[in-house]
Amino acid sequence: TVLGERELALRERARQVIPGGMYGHMSVQAFSAAHPQFMASGQGSRVTDTDGRTYLDLMCGWGPVVLGHRHPGVTAAVLDQLDRGDCLDGTSPVAVEFAELLVDTIPSADWAMFCKNGSDATTTSVTIARAATGKRKLLVAHGAYHGAVPWCSLRGSGVTAEDQAHLVHYEYNDLASAEAAAAEAGDDLAAIVVCPMRHDIKREQELVDPAFARGLRALADRTGAVLILDDVRCGFRLDLGGSWEPLGVRPDLSAWSKAIANGQALGAVTGVEALRDAVGKIYVTGSFWTAAVPLAAGLATLTELRKGVALPDMARTGARLREGLAAQAAAHGVAIRQTGPVQMPMLSFDGDEDFRLATSFAEAAVQRGVYLHPWHNWFLSAAHTDDDIEEILARTDDAFAAVRHG
Ligand code: PMP
Repeated sequence: TVLGERELALRERARQVIPGGMYGHMSVQAFSAAHPQFMASGQGSRVTDTDGRTYLDLMCGWGPVVLGHRHPGVTAAVLDQLDRGDCLDGTSPVAVEFAELLVDTIPSADWAMFCKNGSDATTTSVTIARAATGKRKLLVAHGAYHGAVPWCSLRGSGVTAEDQAHLVHYEYNDLASAEAAAAEAGDDLAAIVVCPMRHDIKREQELVDPAFARGLRALADRTGAVLILDDVRCGFRLDLGGSWEPLGVRPDLSAWSKAIANGQALGAVTGVEALRDAVGKIYVTGSFWTAAVPLAAGLATLTELRKGVALPDMARTGARLREGLAAQAAAHGVAIRQTGPVQMPMLSFDGDEDFRLATSFAEAAVQRGVYLHPWHNWFLSAAHTDDDIEEILARTDDAFAAVRHG
């Protein structure tokens, strides 16, 4: 077997006490026979499993780790705050300091509020939009992921039709379909929910058509709907001001999480002045929503990102990785496609509808010490050096050879 002894023993114990041994996106059995389910530690651009095998990490905790595992500045901020307390009886002042920094960084943000994860952030955004407009319908793209909660769950089991009764679907990058969905919602339209790009699971990524982004903004303005940008996955990797900032399209509300605190549990909603009062009308909260340690991590993370080095670094290393993978695939005579921004790579194989080749490649890569996923986008971090990319490429070359030889 390719899996280590400790890994196998942990899987056996987990099967007894955790349904399915693991669940959700972390359940490796859903995508690989070779990936370890358990990880023991991470450092910079590498993660180490429980059998002591170290991998160059191209998943970065599935997005949160933007500065690298155990970034010294963030770790220092975490330990410092932990020393003073995490869950206190009132909000830590660090919440104010971090909200100020977010408002200063994100042009569409006049205020910020905190929660724990991406699902909280998107759900809170929807609640604010409904409170502000007094309307119910939400336009969402077919196949888009906005969280693991009933209103937007992509799986039917345990979810009622009523939970999703007010969703009206459109096709990403198809403005006419969004206009038609808005017409269907009529005078009951509360919000248009959209991701900065199409990054649905098990399909190639698709960058946003700027005309589509501008068209949604105009549609929201014309109908009075709130434009919600779900920046949970792309946020703080592509543009610190928001992922549509380069297009000049500003949302009314943005949902953030993942990279916001370099791996600490934190989500945020930011919004425009006109929606400030609606936040006062709704009741949203959570025991851990203003825990101080993740907020201190967020403040340290954004402070580091604002130095202006991390994002250009990821763009450079991501471009080198893409170019290297393209050359290798060509040399091995394997037809691949690479989609999405280079900082969030996605590699797919031509004609590989069942992801058989992608799975073989991912398994071959992980066995050669590169942790990546067959059908979810990958993530670069600022800890990935040029040398790391060369080391990754040395191993993927071998993985391509393994796939070619079947
Ligand atoms: N929106 C998007 C675009 C996401 O990628 C995710 C997580 N993959 C979520 C929302 C939900 O975030 P979380 O898993 O932190 O609840």
